[in-house]
Amino acid sequence: MSKKIAVIGGGASGLFAAIFAAQNGNSVTIYESGERVGRKILATGNGRCNMTNMNADIENYHGRNPKFIMGARNKFWVEETLEFFSELGIVSKTEDEGKVYPYSDQASAVLDVLRFRLDSLGVKIVTSFEVEKVKKKKSGFNVISYNGQSEYADSVIVATGGKAAPNLGSKGVGYEILESFGHKVTELSPSLVQIKTETDVVKKLKGIKLNANVSLGNFKEYGEVLFTEYGLSGPAVFSLSSRLKNQKTISLDIMSEYSEDELYDMISVRMYQNPKITLENFFVGMFNKRVGQALLKYCGIEPLSRYAVTLGEKEIRRICSTIKKWNFKITGTMSWNNAQVTKGGVITDDFNPNTMESKLVNGLYATGEVLDIDGDCGGYNLQWAWSSGYLAGISVGK
Ligand SMILES: Cc1cc2nc3c(=O)[nH]c(=O)nc-3n(C[C@H](O)[C@H](O)[C@H](O)COP(=O)(O)OP(=O)(O)OC[C@H]3O[C@@H](n4cnc5c(N)ncnc54)[C@H](O)[C@@H]3O)c2cc1C
Repeated sequence: MSKKIAVIGGGASGLFAAIFAAQNGNSVTIYESGERVGRKILATGNGRCNMTNMNADIENYHGRNPKFIMGARNKFWVEETLEFFSELGIVSKTEDEGKVYPYSDQASAVLDVLRFRLDSLGVKIVTSFEVEKVKKKKSGFNVISYNGQSEYADSVIVATGGKAAPNLGSKGVGYEILESFGHKVTELSPSLVQIKTETDVVKKLKGIKLNANVSLGNFKEYGEVLFTEYGLSGPAVFSLSSRLKNQKTISLDIMSEYSEDELYDMISVRMYQNPKITLENFFVGMFNKRVGQALLKYCGIEPLSRYAVTLGEKEIRRICSTIKKWNFKITGTMSWNNAQVTKGGVITDDFNPNTMESKLVNGLYATGEVLDIDGDCGGYNLQWAWSSGYLAGISVGK
């Protein structure tokens, strides 16, 4: 018999959940607070949608219990997701580090094919319906909006996302809905976000990009770093922000291909080849000129009008160790508005990893970012949204 399924939230995981719930012959309605579904999907991957990652595995996920993803990992993961998207019409391509994008480079294509499928399955989409609470009835639930509308459902899938990027719809109401059923929520913080540092150096280098090996405690990431007026940004920094706990500094190795001794030799030769060049221009051709100047100032080597030949051995050693480990004191992260995901969420121990159903309340499900799972930067978060949405959709109303 067809059951009434309410999906709260028309984001990545909600759309997947709705499709698979409807494929099982259920009557499915998506309640979306925004004027249209999938707004965040359109913003992913800078408008290109980094839809998954060929290397996605348990080590790319964080939370109190990352093993929770194993249910999804074993049943519906990267291969199955790409197969499904291919069936919907998406030709995909794999770029550096296993990142997968639609061949058209359009996030809108990903949303379009999902909408077409929802349409063909008869899924009802109710927009501008912001769910305030869900009430358990003797059998089933009432889904109640902020303006007092109440809709019945036999089962409810909470796919409201977390708190990251509230301008795209996810404000964190899902946590309150799930808490009202006895679920517990961890501390929440912005992740995949720019890291704020003391600004004396970074401000001067605002707008400059370089490739570096970035270290945060024991964690390392190689990639592009962007200096901003508040701190550090760029993919490598974004990725490491998911590892941020109590670390006090973030460090850059801006010439990771060279050892400190090799750099010492390189700089010594450079100095004898151009003895009369001023320090202001000494690193031209090695780094961005402003980076070279900031580095020397950071090392306390001034004035920059000095000739290169005046550099002493200790000063060269200081330059080399700073090139290899340039420390920036962390002062925080940028806000939820700038974050791509939420670190923390509803504790997963109270959910079945194979179905996403609550262990506390029959017929209640949660998917995607609202749960205490966050992934690295590079397609891993959407993969979790698709997979958890699939599991809930395929399991609900059976
Ligand atoms: C700028 C940006 C770029 C990103 N790029 C990538 C990327 O390229 N690759 C990647 O893997 N991940 C990326 N992410 C992360 C990824 O988009 C999210 O992790 C993923 O979309 C989470 O899916 P979700 O379904 O759980 O939540 P969301 O996609 O946030 O969807 C939740 C939906 O629920 C709706 N909603 C919320 N509360 C209510 C309510 N009370 N009532 C009704 N509806 C409600 C919201 O309006 C929203 O439509 C990016 C995130 C951002 C912000």
